[in-house]
Amino acid sequence: MSEATKKGVGTIGGYTVLRREPLERLEGEFIQLEHERTGARHIHIECADDNNGFTVLFPTPPRDSTGVAHILEHVVLAGSQRFPVHDPFFSMTRRSLATFMNAFTSADWTAYPFSTRNAKDFSNLLDVYLDATFYPRLEQDAFMQEGIRFEFEAPDDPRSGLRYKGVVFNEMKGALASPAAAMQRAMGKALFAGLTYEHVSGGDPEHIPELTWQKLREFHASHYHPSNAYFYTYGDRPLASTLDAIERNVLSRFERISVDSSIPDVKRGSRPAGITEPYPAAAGEDNSRRSQALTAWVTVPSSDSFRLLSMKVLTEALLGNPGSPLRKALIDSKLGTAMADGTGLQDDYKESVFGAGLKDIRSEDATKVQDVVLKTLTKLAKDGLDPEQVDAVIHRLEFEKRERSNAGFPYALKVMFSCLPAYNYGGDPYASMNFDADLDRLQRERKNGRWFENVIRTELLDNSHRALLTIVPDPDLEEHKRKTELERLALIEATLSEPDRNKIVEDALRLKASQDAKQDLSVLPTLELTDIPMKFEALAPRSTAIGGAAVDFYILPTNGVTYLDIRSDFSVLAQEELDLLPLFGRALTQSGAAGQDYVQIAQRIAAYTGGVGAAAQVQSLALVEDFVQSFIVSGRALDRNVKPFIEILSDLTSRLEIDPARLKEIIAETATRLESSLANLGFQFAILLAQSKLTSEGALNERLQGIRMLHSMRDLAKLDEQQLGPVIDTLQAIRTKLFRAEALQVVVTCEEATAATVSEHLASLVVSLPAKKEKARSPKPPAQDPLPEARIAPVPVAFNVRTFKTVRYTNADAPALLVLANYLRDTFLHKELREKGGAYGGYAQASTGAGLFMLGSYRDPNIIRTYTVYDQAVRWVLDSPVEAEQLKEAILGACGDVDPLESPDIKGRREAVNRLTGFTLQERERFKQRLLKVNAEDLRRVTSRYLANGSGVQVTVAGADLIEAARKEHPELFAVVEPV
Ligand SMILES: [Zn+2]
Repeated sequence: MSEATKKGVGTIGGYTVLRREPLERLEGEFIQLEHERTGARHIHIECADDNNGFTVLFPTPPRDSTGVAHILEHVVLAGSQRFPVHDPFFSMTRRSLATFMNAFTSADWTAYPFSTRNAKDFSNLLDVYLDATFYPRLEQDAFMQEGIRFEFEAPDDPRSGLRYKGVVFNEMKGALASPAAAMQRAMGKALFAGLTYEHVSGGDPEHIPELTWQKLREFHASHYHPSNAYFYTYGDRPLASTLDAIERNVLSRFERISVDSSIPDVKRGSRPAGITEPYPAAAGEDNSRRSQALTAWVTVPSSDSFRLLSMKVLTEALLGNPGSPLRKALIDSKLGTAMADGTGLQDDYKESVFGAGLKDIRSEDATKVQDVVLKTLTKLAKDGLDPEQVDAVIHRLEFEKRERSNAGFPYALKVMFSCLPAYNYGGDPYASMNFDADLDRLQRERKNGRWFENVIRTELLDNSHRALLTIVPDPDLEEHKRKTELERLALIEATLSEPDRNKIVEDALRLKASQDAKQDLSVLPTLELTDIPMKFEALAPRSTAIGGAAVDFYILPTNGVTYLDIRSDFSVLAQEELDLLPLFGRALTQSGAAGQDYVQIAQRIAAYTGGVGAAAQVQSLALVEDFVQSFIVSGRALDRNVKPFIEILSDLTSRLEIDPARLKEIIAETATRLESSLANLGFQFAILLAQSKLTSEGALNERLQGIRMLHSMRDLAKLDEQQLGPVIDTLQAIRTKLFRAEALQVVVTCEEATAATVSEHLASLVVSLPAKKEKARSPKPPAQDPLPEARIAPVPVAFNVRTFKTVRYTNADAPALLVLANYLRDTFLHKELREKGGAYGGYAQASTGAGLFMLGSYRDPNIIRTYTVYDQAVRWVLDSPVEAEQLKEAILGACGDVDPLESPDIKGRREAVNRLTGFTLQERERFKQRLLKVNAEDLRRVTSRYLANGSGVQVTVAGADLIEAARKEHPELFAVVEPV
């Protein structure tokens, strides 16, 4: 730090600039400021990216499990002083071209981030975010709707049975049902007893009813204050104007206060602890090997960027890939089949937690799992870590730092999350974002010898603040919880006087009426259709042939990273091979090759690439009802590693060696991971199953990613090593059919200077492949039986999907269907399913590519009611006038859908798919032109043509109780009921 930076380097408005530092690889600057009067903190990342980001974050450490911070997050989004509408955030998503809008509640903070590429949009969103967080209305009705309230089973009948209702109440019932949530709970109880992280920060449905409106308001007043605020901005927008807006709208109206959002440090225990936590499981299944055990330690402070980096590198070196020593020792023990939830380093606690363990174990083996962890660490502390493995991790860090990708999440916000622990817990955010200095120090320490071996001793082996966390499946848990809740409600109900009962009915009816009341959305700022960019960026590849393979180069500024996709048409596969294709994708990147075992291959992948993956994709054609079947191997690497990177791909495609013992592990790990994430996969499974009933494309997708894939994986998991011979033969047959010189279409995205090197090495890859021809042989699978179906899953909620067949992208009706989806979701479904029905989400989605239209509910407490809402939704479009403002919002939303945020890594790949499938620039621009012209009559026309004819198919994935109750009321609802 220079002399100037210590004293501050000037002022901007009412802010002192504490620090300015270059961010070389971002070609930008890090600017840290503090607001003089209120103490509000601000970090700005100045760079040339036009996707500008904003976040305001408040430390909100919980003192109980009522979920106060989480419910507050929901209520904050329910209207503010300047914008007194029900849900300004939801409303703004329809009036904006935001590339990201959300709010998060973590274990001890709450954050409100957004990003957008449009300057007017940035100002609009900034106004709404600031007003929402600092001046929310926090009305009692919003608290009751989003948090918790009493309501009768039939809201207008005081004799129909007292119930709890509330969006967060339901959301958390779903969220806490997963094994991962049980592990988190166990970790909090065992390692942080009596402290912040012992509590369920999102809210435990058993404790949410203890929260009152008054407590919620007090929590807001003491935590959502500039003196407790951490601002973050990013991008090419002038900082001074953003600061001015924040100061004018917020800071000028507050005085500094002292806020206690401190989080006490753990008092280190002298003896290791142990805890067992149940999680809900399906009844009637073999649950004998469904437990998990995790050994976990509280380690370094998350604010200490150097020590955290050191722990991160150690964690990756121990567990990062299948060849990493601790991961390998655990899998080799055969006590379980996959890494336990919570394995790795968790730095979103003030003191980071390191954990390692196994899934799919017998509960009595928990201590054996711990023994493996302790023995392996002891051995590594004595014999040392393989320096090459550590080098590979450091390479990986360098890769991640260099890559500026918007994949999954805008880069504008990734940068913030990279320095969040240091920023939020009082460390040095610049050091943690730009970790060159820390990395240099780490390399020096390594040279001095035994650095990581000492870290293993001090932070893990000699650290007695350790716990063995075991989670066990409990088929009765949900039922028990449900009964306890009903008994508790019955006791409360017995104390209710007649006026009490009437008040509950009155509240329910008032809530319903206020949800139905017309809102004046004109107070909210908005974009106009004229603000929408109409042109797509033209992108043309440089096409060439290399040894029979077609290669397209997309030359883009990638910041020194090369992206490579190898595509092959998998329609050459036979029927029986298709079911093994998902396994092939995994086996391809996790096995041995060219005389090296999987540990060595994993090591090479880690040392030279930013990751290699492989999967089948079904891609819709724009013009006709058909699709292409692509198997894609994709990878990325720093330019200087192009040679070893392509050599790895070459070894995998032409010299793969699949060993039965290793394959057994891959299958077991995949199956375990699927089983333990059923609670999260329910929605995807319901959507895919419904689509399989309508189109051939849907049937194929279900087979590759849906319940059928789960079933194939389960069947494979039953085979022992000796029985895997024929499976391996089939996998190898798949490989030779897919990877032939003639069959390959390669897409490369890189900078001009690297293209020649890529060509040269690709040539040797292609040369090593067979040249023989294969004919397409897999007939396209027929659509499945369209009968309505329910699948029972171990979840306390429902996912309800109704899907319709529509038309292809180039059909004149397609743009209207996309607008209709936005219109239905944002108006009718949001209100009926989320606000009134208590579902976490209600969706309408037009897959303009596949020619499908879906109505869906996520984490829904209802089944029959939701299907009735779908019927009503269709009638509502046909019978009610469409307001001009709502139509405009739906069009804006649809325009955002067709123009997502990209970055070089996505662009080349996306253009290649567009060219393959006929989504030409011309067609996409025509589609957008048509979007702008969609009118109310179009919405009614497409609704009546595609949605009102009763052709929709229905699939529900839900807990057994919910399905049983629905069938009792409506025996004909589902023709098929089976477990997932
Ligand atoms: Zn929530």
